[in-house]
Amino acid sequence: MAYSYDDQNIFARILRGEIPNETVFESEHVLALRDVNPQAPEHVLVIPKGAYVCYDHFATAASDAEIIGFTRAVGEVCAQLGLEPGAGGGGYRVIANAGRDGVQEVPHFHLHILGGRPLGRILQPA
Ligand code: AMP
Repeated sequence: MAYSYDDQNIFARILRGEIPNETVFESEHVLALRDVNPQAPEHVLVIPKGAYVCYDHFATAASDAEIIGFTRAVGEVCAQLGLEPGAGGGGYRVIANAGRDGVQEVPHFHLHILGGRPLGRILQPA
């Protein structure tokens, strides 16, 4: 799938240092930051530094190193936030919105990690 990437999106601007953010984790390929409008006590966005529009774009076009780095970053963030159920945390939910039906607002791939309270069912009835 060919995607065109809008390099003026808010996460691209954050990655270029044009807009401040509350970073919780950073590595060669990844930035994780607190969501500016949190929907739970813990709400962190994990974003690749590369120019990927959404999850399927990242999954098909990113290098192995980027994909491994991204996946490891998710684990690091969950541990840092104390959310891991296997380590006594309360658990969490990972969400990736994509496109129109997924109601994606920012066209730079990101995972939401939400936790810190019971999150209810994954979806409301249509
Ligand atoms: P999505 O609908 O998955 O594209 O969600 C985009 C998310 O980005 C929303 O939860 C916004 O609150 C969040 N967001 C927008 N601008 C910023 C910003 N400058 N810093 C941190 N989070 C942001």
